[in-house]
Amino acid sequence: MYKGIAASRGIGIGSICLLSEHDLSFENKKVEDIEAEKKRFNDALEKFKEETTIQAADVRQRIGAKEAEIIEGHLVMASDPAMSGEMLKLIENGQCAEGALSSVCDMFYGMFSSMDDEMMRQRASDIADVKTSILKILLGIEDVDISKVAPGTVLVTRDLTPSMTSQIVKENVVGIITEVGGKTSHSAILARALEIPAVLSVPDITKLVKDKDTAIVDGNEGEIYINPDGDVLSSYIIKREQFIKKQAELKNFYGKKTVTADGTELDLYCNIGTPKDAKKALECDGEGIGLFRSEFLFMDNNHLPTEDEQFEAYKEAVEIMAGKEVIIRTLDVGGDKAIPYLNMKPEENPFLGYRAVRYCLGNKDTYMVQLRALVRASAYGKVKIMVPLVTTVDEIREVKSMVAEIKKDFDEKGIKYDPEIKVGCMIETPSASLIADLLAKEADFFSIGTNDLTQYTMSVDRGNSDVAYLYSAFQPSVLRSIKYIIESGVKAGIPVGMCGEAAADPLMIPLLMSFGLTEYSVNPVLVLTARCIISKWTKEEADALAAKVLSLPTEKEIVATLKAAAKE
Ligand code: PEP
Ligand code: MG
Repeated sequence: MYKGIAASRGIGIGSICLLSEHDLSFENKKVEDIEAEKKRFNDALEKFKEETTIQAADVRQRIGAKEAEIIEGHLVMASDPAMSGEMLKLIENGQCAEGALSSVCDMFYGMFSSMDDEMMRQRASDIADVKTSILKILLGIEDVDISKVAPGTVLVTRDLTPSMTSQIVKENVVGIITEVGGKTSHSAILARALEIPAVLSVPDITKLVKDKDTAIVDGNEGEIYINPDGDVLSSYIIKREQFIKKQAELKNFYGKKTVTADGTELDLYCNIGTPKDAKKALECDGEGIGLFRSEFLFMDNNHLPTEDEQFEAYKEAVEIMAGKEVIIRTLDVGGDKAIPYLNMKPEENPFLGYRAVRYCLGNKDTYMVQLRALVRASAYGKVKIMVPLVTTVDEIREVKSMVAEIKKDFDEKGIKYDPEIKVGCMIETPSASLIADLLAKEADFFSIGTNDLTQYTMSVDRGNSDVAYLYSAFQPSVLRSIKYIIESGVKAGIPVGMCGEAAADPLMIPLLMSFGLTEYSVNPVLVLTARCIISKWTKEEADALAAKVLSLPTEKEIVATLKAAAKE
Protein backbone atom coordinates (compact mmCIF):
# COMPACT_ATOMS: atom_id res chain seq x y z
CA MET A 1 0.00 0.00 0.00
CA TYR A 2 1.26 3.47 -0.85
CA LYS A 3 0.04 6.68 0.72
CA GLY A 4 -0.62 10.02 -0.90
CA ILE A 5 -3.00 12.96 -0.64
CA ALA A 6 -6.69 12.11 -0.90
CA ALA A 7 -7.64 14.67 -3.56
CA SER A 8 -10.91 13.38 -4.98
CA ARG A 9 -13.27 11.04 -3.15
CA GLY A 10 -14.31 7.58 -4.24
CA ILE A 11 -12.77 4.20 -4.95
CA GLY A 12 -11.45 3.27 -8.39
CA ILE A 13 -10.20 -0.15 -9.46
CA GLY A 14 -8.66 -0.58 -12.89
CA SER A 15 -5.75 -1.13 -15.21
CA ILE A 16 -2.87 1.34 -15.24
CA CYS A 17 -2.01 3.56 -18.18
CA LEU A 18 1.37 5.08 -17.36
CA LEU A 19 1.79 8.49 -18.94
CA SER A 20 5.55 8.70 -19.16
CA GLU A 21 7.39 11.94 -19.14
CA HIS A 22 8.68 12.99 -22.53
CA ASP A 23 12.22 14.07 -23.03
CA LEU A 24 11.78 17.78 -23.54
CA SER A 25 15.46 18.60 -23.80
CA PHE A 26 16.62 20.64 -26.79
CA GLU A 27 19.78 22.16 -28.09
CA ASN A 28 19.76 25.85 -27.22
CA LYS A 29 21.42 26.78 -30.49
CA LYS A 30 21.88 30.20 -32.04
CA VAL A 31 19.59 30.68 -35.01
CA GLU A 32 20.62 32.13 -38.35
CA ASP A 33 17.27 32.66 -40.03
CA ILE A 34 15.53 34.85 -37.47
CA GLU A 35 12.37 35.37 -39.53
CA ALA A 36 11.91 31.62 -40.06
CA GLU A 37 12.40 30.98 -36.34
CA LYS A 38 9.87 33.69 -35.43
CA LYS A 39 7.41 32.04 -37.80
CA ARG A 40 8.09 28.63 -36.24
CA PHE A 41 7.40 30.10 -32.80
CA ASN A 42 4.27 31.98 -33.91
CA ASP A 43 2.92 28.87 -35.66
CA ALA A 44 3.44 26.79 -32.51
CA LEU A 45 1.77 29.46 -30.39
CA GLU A 46 -1.19 29.61 -32.77
CA LYS A 47 -1.52 25.83 -32.76
CA PHE A 48 -1.47 25.84 -28.95
CA LYS A 49 -4.16 28.53 -28.85
CA GLU A 50 -6.34 26.68 -31.35
CA GLU A 51 -6.06 23.39 -29.44
CA THR A 52 -6.63 25.09 -26.10
CA THR A 53 -9.69 26.96 -27.38
CA ILE A 54 -11.22 23.66 -28.50
CA GLN A 55 -10.28 22.02 -25.18
CA ALA A 56 -11.80 24.86 -23.16
CA ALA A 57 -15.07 24.70 -25.10
CA ASP A 58 -15.14 20.93 -24.65
CA VAL A 59 -14.52 21.22 -20.89
CA ARG A 60 -17.20 23.91 -20.59
CA GLN A 61 -19.69 21.59 -22.19
CA ARG A 62 -18.63 18.31 -20.54
CA ILE A 63 -17.51 19.43 -17.09
CA GLY A 64 -18.52 22.98 -16.26
CA ALA A 65 -17.86 26.69 -16.59
CA LYS A 66 -15.63 26.97 -13.53
CA GLU A 67 -13.38 24.19 -14.78
CA ALA A 68 -13.25 25.65 -18.31
CA GLU A 69 -11.95 28.89 -16.79
CA ILE A 70 -8.82 27.03 -15.69
CA ILE A 71 -8.06 26.07 -19.30
CA GLU A 72 -9.05 29.53 -20.53
CA GLY A 73 -6.52 30.92 -18.05
CA HIS A 74 -3.82 29.15 -20.09
CA LEU A 75 -5.13 30.77 -23.21
CA VAL A 76 -5.00 34.19 -21.57
CA MET A 77 -1.39 33.56 -20.53
CA ALA A 78 -0.35 32.43 -24.00
CA SER A 79 -2.15 35.39 -25.57
CA ASP A 80 -0.47 37.92 -23.29
CA PRO A 81 1.48 40.15 -25.72
CA ALA A 82 3.93 41.05 -22.94
CA MET A 83 4.89 37.40 -22.56
CA SER A 84 5.07 36.47 -26.25
CA GLY A 85 6.74 39.85 -26.95
CA GLU A 86 9.55 38.93 -24.55
CA MET A 87 9.95 35.60 -26.29
CA LEU A 88 10.07 37.17 -29.75
CA LYS A 89 12.67 39.66 -28.51
CA LEU A 90 14.90 36.80 -27.42
CA ILE A 91 14.45 35.11 -30.82
CA GLU A 92 15.40 38.38 -32.52
CA ASN A 93 18.59 38.26 -30.47
CA GLY A 94 19.36 34.85 -31.99
CA GLN A 95 17.87 32.46 -29.43
CA CYS A 96 15.93 29.46 -30.75
CA ALA A 97 12.15 29.30 -30.18
CA GLU A 98 12.45 26.56 -27.54
CA GLY A 99 15.11 28.52 -25.64
CA ALA A 100 13.14 31.77 -25.78
CA LEU A 101 9.97 30.07 -24.57
CA SER A 102 11.80 28.36 -21.71
CA SER A 103 13.69 31.47 -20.53
CA VAL A 104 10.58 33.62 -20.31
CA CYS A 105 8.34 30.93 -18.79
CA ASP A 106 11.03 29.97 -16.27
CA MET A 107 11.39 33.60 -15.24
CA PHE A 108 7.64 33.94 -14.58
CA TYR A 109 7.58 30.51 -12.95
CA GLY A 110 10.33 31.56 -10.51
CA MET A 111 8.47 34.76 -9.71
CA PHE A 112 5.10 33.12 -9.00
CA SER A 113 6.34 30.00 -7.27
CA SER A 114 8.18 31.99 -4.61
CA MET A 115 5.03 33.89 -3.58
CA ASP A 116 3.25 33.02 -0.35
CA ASP A 117 -0.19 33.16 -1.88
CA GLU A 118 -1.56 29.73 -2.88
CA MET A 119 -3.33 31.27 -5.92
CA MET A 120 -0.08 32.77 -7.16
CA ARG A 121 1.77 29.50 -6.70
CA GLN A 122 -0.98 27.85 -8.72
CA ARG A 123 -0.21 30.39 -11.49
CA ALA A 124 3.34 29.05 -11.51
CA SER A 125 2.16 25.52 -12.27
CA ASP A 126 -0.15 26.88 -14.98
CA ILE A 127 2.85 28.58 -16.59
CA ALA A 128 4.80 25.33 -16.45
CA ASP A 129 1.86 23.57 -18.09
CA VAL A 130 1.67 26.15 -20.91
CA LYS A 131 5.44 25.91 -21.44
CA THR A 132 5.34 22.10 -21.68
CA SER A 133 2.46 22.13 -24.14
CA ILE A 134 4.09 24.66 -26.49
CA LEU A 135 7.47 22.95 -26.17
CA LYS A 136 5.91 19.66 -27.25
CA ILE A 137 4.47 21.33 -30.35
CA LEU A 138 7.87 22.85 -31.18
CA LEU A 139 9.64 19.52 -30.67
CA GLY A 140 6.98 17.59 -32.58
CA ILE A 141 6.15 15.33 -29.60
CA GLU A 142 2.80 13.54 -29.73
CA ASP A 143 1.21 12.74 -26.36
CA VAL A 144 -0.76 9.63 -25.51
CA ASP A 145 -4.30 10.57 -26.49
CA ILE A 146 -5.88 10.51 -23.04
CA SER A 147 -9.32 10.89 -24.55
CA LYS A 148 -8.90 7.46 -26.20
CA VAL A 149 -7.86 5.32 -23.19
CA ALA A 150 -9.89 2.16 -22.64
CA PRO A 151 -12.73 1.97 -20.09
CA GLY A 152 -11.49 1.00 -16.62
CA THR A 153 -8.20 2.93 -16.87
CA VAL A 154 -6.23 4.28 -13.91
CA LEU A 155 -4.01 7.12 -15.10
CA VAL A 156 -0.58 7.32 -13.48
CA THR A 157 1.63 10.29 -14.20
CA ARG A 158 4.20 12.49 -12.51
CA ASP A 159 1.94 15.53 -12.66
CA LEU A 160 -1.50 15.66 -14.13
CA THR A 161 -1.78 19.05 -15.75
CA PRO A 162 -5.10 20.78 -16.37
CA SER A 163 -4.58 20.34 -20.11
CA MET A 164 -4.23 16.58 -19.59
CA THR A 165 -7.16 16.41 -17.19
CA SER A 166 -9.37 18.25 -19.62
CA GLN A 167 -9.01 15.42 -22.15
CA ILE A 168 -10.24 12.79 -19.72
CA VAL A 169 -13.44 11.01 -20.65
CA LYS A 170 -15.14 10.39 -17.33
CA GLU A 171 -16.65 7.08 -18.40
CA ASN A 172 -13.22 5.56 -19.17
CA VAL A 173 -10.99 6.77 -16.34
CA VAL A 174 -11.70 5.22 -12.95
CA GLY A 175 -8.77 6.64 -11.02
CA ILE A 176 -5.87 9.09 -11.05
CA ILE A 177 -2.51 8.76 -9.29
CA THR A 178 0.27 11.34 -9.44
CA GLU A 179 3.65 12.02 -7.89
CA VAL A 180 3.06 15.73 -7.29
CA GLY A 181 0.13 18.08 -6.60
CA GLY A 182 -1.95 18.96 -3.58
CA LYS A 183 -5.59 19.11 -2.59
CA THR A 184 -6.07 22.59 -4.01
CA SER A 185 -4.13 22.10 -7.26
CA HIS A 186 -6.07 22.64 -10.45
CA SER A 187 -5.76 18.94 -11.28
CA ALA A 188 -7.39 18.07 -7.98
CA ILE A 189 -10.20 20.54 -8.65
CA LEU A 190 -10.79 19.05 -12.09
CA ALA A 191 -10.65 15.48 -10.79
CA ARG A 192 -13.27 16.37 -8.16
CA ALA A 193 -15.45 18.03 -10.79
CA LEU A 194 -15.25 14.86 -12.88
CA GLU A 195 -15.91 12.77 -9.75
CA ILE A 196 -12.91 10.55 -10.46
CA PRO A 197 -11.13 9.16 -7.37
CA ALA A 198 -7.64 10.67 -7.15
CA VAL A 199 -4.62 10.22 -4.91
CA LEU A 200 -1.87 12.76 -5.48
CA SER A 201 1.72 13.16 -4.32
CA VAL A 202 2.59 9.45 -4.08
CA PRO A 203 6.39 9.45 -4.03
CA ASP A 204 8.05 7.77 -7.05
CA ILE A 205 4.84 6.10 -8.19
CA THR A 206 5.74 6.38 -11.90
CA LYS A 207 8.82 4.25 -11.19
CA LEU A 208 6.91 1.67 -9.16
CA VAL A 209 4.29 0.71 -11.73
CA LYS A 210 4.02 -0.36 -15.35
CA ASP A 211 1.27 -0.34 -17.95
CA LYS A 212 -1.55 -2.81 -17.33
CA ASP A 213 -0.78 -3.29 -13.60
CA THR A 214 -3.98 -3.44 -11.55
CA ALA A 215 -4.47 -0.51 -9.18
CA ILE A 216 -6.88 0.36 -6.41
CA VAL A 217 -7.24 4.11 -5.90
CA ASP A 218 -8.82 4.96 -2.56
CA GLY A 219 -9.53 8.67 -2.86
CA ASN A 220 -11.25 8.71 0.53
CA GLU A 221 -8.20 7.64 2.52
CA GLY A 222 -5.44 8.68 0.11
CA GLU A 223 -4.21 5.09 -0.31
CA ILE A 224 -3.33 3.03 -3.36
CA TYR A 225 -2.64 -0.67 -3.92
CA ILE A 226 -0.75 -2.02 -6.93
CA ASN A 227 -1.50 -5.59 -8.03
CA PRO A 228 -3.35 -6.31 -4.76
CA ASP A 229 -3.98 -9.86 -3.58
CA GLY A 230 -7.44 -11.41 -3.88
CA ASP A 231 -8.57 -10.52 -0.35
CA VAL A 232 -7.70 -6.83 -0.66
CA LEU A 233 -9.28 -6.70 -4.11
CA SER A 234 -12.55 -8.25 -3.00
CA SER A 235 -12.75 -6.05 0.11
CA TYR A 236 -12.30 -2.98 -2.12
CA ILE A 237 -14.90 -4.18 -4.61
CA ILE A 238 -17.35 -4.24 -1.69
CA LYS A 239 -16.15 -0.84 -0.42
CA ARG A 240 -16.58 0.62 -3.90
CA GLU A 241 -20.16 -0.63 -4.11
CA GLN A 242 -20.93 0.76 -0.66
CA PHE A 243 -19.43 4.11 -1.58
CA ILE A 244 -21.41 4.33 -4.82
CA LYS A 245 -24.62 3.42 -2.99
CA LYS A 246 -23.92 5.99 -0.27
CA GLN A 247 -23.21 8.75 -2.81
CA ALA A 248 -26.45 8.01 -4.63
CA GLU A 249 -28.30 8.10 -1.33
CA LEU A 250 -26.64 11.40 -0.35
CA LYS A 251 -27.64 13.03 -3.63
CA ASN A 252 -31.26 12.50 -2.59
CA PHE A 253 -30.65 14.94 0.26
CA TYR A 254 -29.63 17.78 -2.05
CA GLY A 255 -32.06 20.69 -2.00
CA LYS A 256 -33.94 19.22 0.95
CA LYS A 257 -34.46 20.67 4.41
CA THR A 258 -32.52 19.24 7.34
CA VAL A 259 -35.08 17.31 9.32
CA THR A 260 -34.85 14.65 12.03
CA ALA A 261 -36.68 11.34 11.64
CA ASP A 262 -39.50 12.70 13.81
CA GLY A 263 -39.84 15.92 11.85
CA THR A 264 -37.84 18.56 13.75
CA GLU A 265 -36.16 21.02 11.39
CA LEU A 266 -32.54 21.89 12.18
CA ASP A 267 -30.08 24.36 10.64
CA LEU A 268 -27.16 22.95 8.70
CA TYR A 269 -24.53 25.61 8.08
CA CYS A 270 -20.99 25.69 6.69
CA ASN A 271 -17.55 26.71 7.94
CA ILE A 272 -15.62 28.93 5.52
CA GLY A 273 -12.32 30.82 5.40
CA THR A 274 -12.76 33.28 2.52
CA PRO A 275 -15.72 35.16 1.05
CA LYS A 276 -15.46 33.05 -2.14
CA ASP A 277 -15.91 29.87 -0.07
CA ALA A 278 -19.48 31.04 0.47
CA LYS A 279 -20.16 29.98 -3.14
CA LYS A 280 -18.92 26.51 -2.28
CA ALA A 281 -21.19 26.47 0.76
CA LEU A 282 -24.16 27.19 -1.49
CA GLU A 283 -23.06 24.67 -4.12
CA CYS A 284 -22.87 22.05 -1.37
CA ASP A 285 -26.37 23.03 -0.23
CA GLY A 286 -25.37 24.71 3.04
CA GLU A 287 -28.19 26.68 4.64
CA GLY A 288 -26.02 29.45 6.02
CA ILE A 289 -22.53 30.16 7.31
CA GLY A 290 -21.94 29.08 10.90
CA LEU A 291 -18.30 30.09 11.01
CA PHE A 292 -16.46 32.52 8.73
CA ARG A 293 -12.89 32.39 10.04
CA SER A 294 -12.06 36.06 9.42
CA GLU A 295 -8.40 35.63 10.36
CA PHE A 296 -7.63 34.32 6.86
CA LEU A 297 -8.33 37.81 5.59
CA PHE A 298 -5.59 39.03 7.91
CA MET A 299 -3.20 36.14 7.25
CA ASP A 300 -3.39 36.47 3.45
CA ASN A 301 -2.36 40.12 3.63
CA ASN A 302 0.86 41.98 4.29
CA HIS A 303 -0.92 44.76 6.14
CA LEU A 304 -3.87 45.10 8.47
CA PRO A 305 -6.90 45.08 6.18
CA THR A 306 -8.58 48.47 6.31
CA GLU A 307 -12.21 48.96 7.33
CA ASP A 308 -13.21 49.24 3.66
CA GLU A 309 -11.23 46.15 2.64
CA GLN A 310 -12.83 44.14 5.42
CA PHE A 311 -16.28 45.54 4.71
CA GLU A 312 -16.00 44.51 1.04
CA ALA A 313 -14.95 40.97 2.01
CA TYR A 314 -17.76 40.49 4.57
CA LYS A 315 -20.29 42.09 2.22
CA GLU A 316 -19.21 39.72 -0.56
CA ALA A 317 -19.88 36.66 1.61
CA VAL A 318 -23.16 38.11 2.87
CA GLU A 319 -24.35 38.93 -0.64
CA ILE A 320 -23.41 35.49 -1.96
CA MET A 321 -25.49 33.96 0.84
CA ALA A 322 -28.42 36.17 -0.22
CA GLY A 323 -30.34 36.57 3.01
CA LYS A 324 -29.11 33.37 4.67
CA GLU A 325 -27.44 33.77 8.05
CA VAL A 326 -23.67 34.50 8.06
CA ILE A 327 -21.86 34.15 11.40
CA ILE A 328 -18.51 35.93 11.20
CA ARG A 329 -15.95 35.25 13.87
CA THR A 330 -13.78 38.19 14.83
CA LEU A 331 -10.01 37.93 14.60
CA ASP A 332 -8.83 34.67 16.21
CA VAL A 333 -5.14 35.52 16.20
CA GLY A 334 -2.39 33.93 18.30
CA GLY A 335 -2.06 30.33 19.39
CA ASP A 336 -1.18 28.52 16.17
CA LYS A 337 -2.28 31.42 13.96
CA ALA A 338 0.51 33.92 13.48
CA ILE A 339 0.14 37.17 11.56
CA PRO A 340 3.69 38.44 11.01
CA TYR A 341 2.94 42.15 10.56
CA LEU A 342 1.21 42.33 13.95
CA ASN A 343 4.64 41.78 15.51
CA MET A 344 3.23 39.85 18.44
CA LYS A 345 5.69 38.95 21.17
CA PRO A 346 6.80 35.30 21.24
CA GLU A 347 5.16 33.54 24.19
CA GLU A 348 6.07 30.56 26.36
CA ASN A 349 2.53 29.16 26.06
CA PRO A 350 0.88 30.70 23.00
CA PHE A 351 -2.34 28.66 23.36
CA LEU A 352 -2.76 30.08 26.85
CA GLY A 353 -1.56 33.52 25.96
CA TYR A 354 -2.43 36.81 24.40
CA ARG A 355 -4.77 35.61 21.66
CA ALA A 356 -8.19 35.99 20.04
CA VAL A 357 -10.55 38.25 22.04
CA ARG A 358 -7.79 38.96 24.56
CA TYR A 359 -5.58 40.43 21.85
CA CYS A 360 -8.53 42.26 20.27
CA LEU A 361 -9.63 43.91 23.50
CA GLY A 362 -6.01 44.88 24.18
CA ASN A 363 -5.83 46.48 20.72
CA LYS A 364 -9.15 48.21 20.55
CA ASP A 365 -8.24 50.44 17.60
CA THR A 366 -7.65 47.37 15.46
CA TYR A 367 -10.74 45.63 16.82
CA MET A 368 -12.90 48.69 16.26
CA VAL A 369 -11.98 48.63 12.55
CA GLN A 370 -13.16 45.04 12.26
CA LEU A 371 -16.35 45.56 14.27
CA ARG A 372 -17.25 48.64 12.20
CA ALA A 373 -16.74 46.68 8.97
CA LEU A 374 -18.95 43.90 10.32
CA VAL A 375 -21.73 46.23 11.43
CA ARG A 376 -21.63 47.96 8.03
CA ALA A 377 -21.87 44.58 6.25
CA SER A 378 -25.01 43.81 8.28
CA ALA A 379 -26.92 46.23 6.04
CA TYR A 380 -26.59 43.67 3.22
CA GLY A 381 -27.92 40.51 4.86
CA LYS A 382 -28.10 38.57 8.10
CA VAL A 383 -24.76 39.08 9.84
CA LYS A 384 -23.98 37.77 13.31
CA ILE A 385 -20.75 38.69 15.13
CA MET A 386 -19.06 35.84 16.99
CA VAL A 387 -16.37 36.34 19.62
CA PRO A 388 -13.71 33.61 19.94
CA LEU A 389 -12.01 32.26 23.06
CA VAL A 390 -14.29 33.94 25.56
CA THR A 391 -13.46 33.06 29.17
CA THR A 392 -15.27 35.76 31.14
CA VAL A 393 -18.55 37.68 31.11
CA ASP A 394 -16.57 40.94 31.01
CA GLU A 395 -15.22 40.11 27.58
CA ILE A 396 -18.60 39.68 25.92
CA ARG A 397 -19.92 42.77 27.70
CA GLU A 398 -16.98 44.80 26.45
CA VAL A 399 -17.49 43.66 22.83
CA LYS A 400 -21.20 44.40 23.07
CA SER A 401 -20.52 47.88 24.36
CA MET A 402 -18.11 48.51 21.45
CA VAL A 403 -20.82 47.40 19.02
CA ALA A 404 -23.33 49.72 20.78
CA GLU A 405 -20.88 52.60 20.41
CA ILE A 406 -20.51 51.86 16.69
CA LYS A 407 -24.29 51.76 16.22
CA LYS A 408 -24.60 55.15 17.91
CA ASP A 409 -21.91 56.60 15.67
CA PHE A 410 -23.57 55.12 12.56
CA ASP A 411 -26.94 56.56 13.63
CA GLU A 412 -25.38 60.00 13.93
CA LYS A 413 -23.66 59.68 10.55
CA GLY A 414 -26.59 58.02 8.79
CA ILE A 415 -24.59 54.87 7.96
CA LYS A 416 -26.83 51.86 7.22
CA TYR A 417 -26.71 48.71 9.39
CA ASP A 418 -28.99 46.05 10.82
CA PRO A 419 -30.17 47.33 14.24
CA GLU A 420 -30.92 43.71 15.23
CA ILE A 421 -27.33 42.53 14.62
CA LYS A 422 -26.48 39.80 17.11
CA VAL A 423 -23.29 39.34 19.12
CA GLY A 424 -22.56 35.83 20.34
CA CYS A 425 -19.87 33.78 22.06
CA MET A 426 -17.84 30.87 20.89
CA ILE A 427 -17.80 28.44 23.74
CA GLU A 428 -14.45 26.76 23.44
CA THR A 429 -12.82 27.05 26.84
CA PRO A 430 -13.60 25.18 30.06
CA SER A 431 -14.15 28.54 31.74
CA ALA A 432 -16.83 29.57 29.23
CA SER A 433 -18.41 26.16 29.54
CA LEU A 434 -18.57 26.29 33.35
CA ILE A 435 -20.19 29.74 33.26
CA ALA A 436 -22.38 28.99 30.22
CA ASP A 437 -25.45 29.89 32.32
CA LEU A 438 -23.99 33.33 33.04
CA LEU A 439 -22.77 33.92 29.51
CA ALA A 440 -26.15 32.90 28.12
CA LYS A 441 -27.65 35.94 29.84
CA GLU A 442 -25.26 38.24 27.97
CA ALA A 443 -24.68 36.63 24.59
CA ASP A 444 -27.24 36.60 21.78
CA PHE A 445 -26.15 33.11 20.74
CA PHE A 446 -23.60 30.37 21.41
CA SER A 447 -21.47 28.36 19.03
CA ILE A 448 -19.47 25.51 20.48
CA GLY A 449 -15.89 25.23 19.23
CA THR A 450 -15.15 21.62 20.01
CA ASN A 451 -11.69 21.76 18.44
CA ASP A 452 -10.46 24.05 21.19
CA LEU A 453 -12.93 22.92 23.84
CA THR A 454 -11.44 19.42 23.57
CA GLN A 455 -7.90 20.79 23.64
CA TYR A 456 -8.44 22.86 26.76
CA THR A 457 -10.72 20.45 28.59
CA MET A 458 -8.36 17.53 28.06
CA SER A 459 -5.20 19.67 28.43
CA VAL A 460 -3.86 18.31 25.15
CA ASP A 461 -2.22 20.38 22.46
CA ARG A 462 -4.51 19.75 19.47
CA GLY A 463 -1.51 19.48 17.14
CA ASN A 464 0.69 17.18 19.23
CA SER A 465 0.60 13.63 17.89
CA ASP A 466 2.13 12.17 21.07
CA VAL A 467 -0.98 13.07 23.04
CA ALA A 468 -3.46 12.68 20.18
CA TYR A 469 -4.90 9.56 21.82
CA LEU A 470 -6.43 11.87 24.45
CA TYR A 471 -7.73 14.39 21.96
CA SER A 472 -11.32 13.28 21.47
CA ALA A 473 -14.63 15.09 21.80
CA PHE A 474 -16.05 11.74 22.98
CA GLN A 475 -14.14 11.93 26.27
CA PRO A 476 -16.73 11.92 29.09
CA SER A 477 -15.51 15.32 30.31
CA VAL A 478 -15.94 16.94 26.89
CA LEU A 479 -19.38 15.38 26.39
CA ARG A 480 -20.56 16.63 29.78
CA SER A 481 -19.26 20.06 28.90
CA ILE A 482 -21.07 20.08 25.53
CA LYS A 483 -24.30 18.97 27.21
CA TYR A 484 -24.11 21.67 29.84
CA ILE A 485 -23.40 24.40 27.28
CA ILE A 486 -26.33 23.41 25.08
CA GLU A 487 -28.72 23.09 28.01
CA SER A 488 -27.66 26.47 29.41
CA GLY A 489 -28.27 28.15 26.06
CA VAL A 490 -31.61 26.44 25.56
CA LYS A 491 -32.71 27.39 29.09
CA ALA A 492 -31.86 31.05 28.44
CA GLY A 493 -33.72 30.92 25.11
CA ILE A 494 -30.74 31.67 22.87
CA PRO A 495 -29.79 29.68 19.74
CA VAL A 496 -26.96 27.19 20.26
CA GLY A 497 -24.81 25.94 17.40
CA MET A 498 -21.60 24.01 16.99
CA CYS A 499 -18.85 24.92 14.53
CA GLY A 500 -16.10 22.57 15.72
CA GLU A 501 -15.35 19.47 13.65
CA ALA A 502 -17.46 17.30 15.98
CA ALA A 503 -20.65 18.83 14.51
CA ALA A 504 -20.17 16.72 11.38
CA ASP A 505 -19.20 13.50 13.14
CA PRO A 506 -21.85 10.86 12.40
CA LEU A 507 -21.26 9.34 15.86
CA MET A 508 -21.66 12.69 17.61
CA ILE A 509 -24.77 13.90 15.78
CA PRO A 510 -27.39 11.85 17.72
CA LEU A 511 -25.87 13.03 21.02
CA LEU A 512 -26.06 16.66 19.90
CA MET A 513 -29.66 16.14 18.83
CA SER A 514 -30.45 14.73 22.24
CA PHE A 515 -28.76 17.63 24.06
CA GLY A 516 -30.86 20.09 22.02
CA LEU A 517 -28.40 21.51 19.49
CA THR A 518 -30.25 23.26 16.67
CA GLU A 519 -27.47 24.54 14.40
CA TYR A 520 -24.70 22.34 12.96
CA SER A 521 -21.88 24.06 11.08
CA VAL A 522 -19.70 21.76 9.00
CA ASN A 523 -17.18 21.68 6.18
CA PRO A 524 -19.22 22.24 2.97
CA VAL A 525 -18.36 18.78 1.60
CA LEU A 526 -20.00 17.19 4.65
CA VAL A 527 -23.37 18.94 4.38
CA LEU A 528 -25.20 16.05 2.75
CA THR A 529 -23.62 13.42 5.01
CA ALA A 530 -24.69 15.38 8.10
CA ARG A 531 -28.21 15.91 6.68
CA CYS A 532 -28.49 12.19 5.97
CA ILE A 533 -27.42 11.21 9.51
CA ILE A 534 -29.79 13.74 11.10
CA SER A 535 -32.66 12.33 9.04
CA LYS A 536 -32.15 8.89 10.59
CA TRP A 537 -32.63 9.72 14.26
CA THR A 538 -35.71 10.54 16.31
CA LYS A 539 -35.35 12.52 19.52
CA GLU A 540 -36.49 9.52 21.53
CA GLU A 541 -33.83 7.25 20.03
CA ALA A 542 -31.16 9.91 20.43
CA ASP A 543 -32.15 10.46 24.08
CA ALA A 544 -31.92 6.73 24.84
CA LEU A 545 -28.47 6.54 23.26
CA ALA A 546 -27.28 9.68 25.06
CA ALA A 547 -28.47 8.37 28.43
CA LYS A 548 -26.53 5.17 27.86
CA VAL A 549 -23.40 6.95 26.69
CA LEU A 550 -23.35 9.47 29.54
CA SER A 551 -23.26 6.67 32.07
CA LEU A 552 -20.07 5.22 30.56
CA PRO A 553 -16.73 6.01 32.19
CA THR A 554 -14.30 5.86 29.26
CA GLU A 555 -13.96 7.25 25.76
CA LYS A 556 -13.33 3.77 24.36
CA GLU A 557 -16.61 2.43 25.74
CA ILE A 558 -18.47 5.51 24.54
CA VAL A 559 -17.13 5.27 20.98
CA ALA A 560 -17.78 1.51 20.87
CA THR A 561 -21.38 2.05 22.01
CA LEU A 562 -21.92 4.82 19.46
CA LYS A 563 -20.43 2.69 16.68
CA ALA A 564 -22.69 -0.21 17.58
CA ALA A 565 -25.73 2.08 17.44
CA ALA A 566 -24.65 3.96 14.30
CA LYS A 567 -27.12 4.15 11.43
CA GLU A 568 -25.32 4.04 8.10
C1 PEP B 1 -12.94 25.36 17.34
O1 PEP B 1 -12.06 25.65 18.14
O2 PEP B 1 -13.70 24.38 17.47
C2 PEP B 1 -13.12 26.16 16.12
C3 PEP B 1 -14.15 25.96 15.32
O3 PEP B 1 -12.23 27.10 15.83
P1 PEP B 1 -10.74 26.88 15.27
O4 PEP B 1 -10.65 25.46 14.78
O5 PEP B 1 -10.58 27.89 14.18
O6 PEP B 1 -9.89 27.14 16.46
MG1 MG C 1 -11.12 27.63 18.19
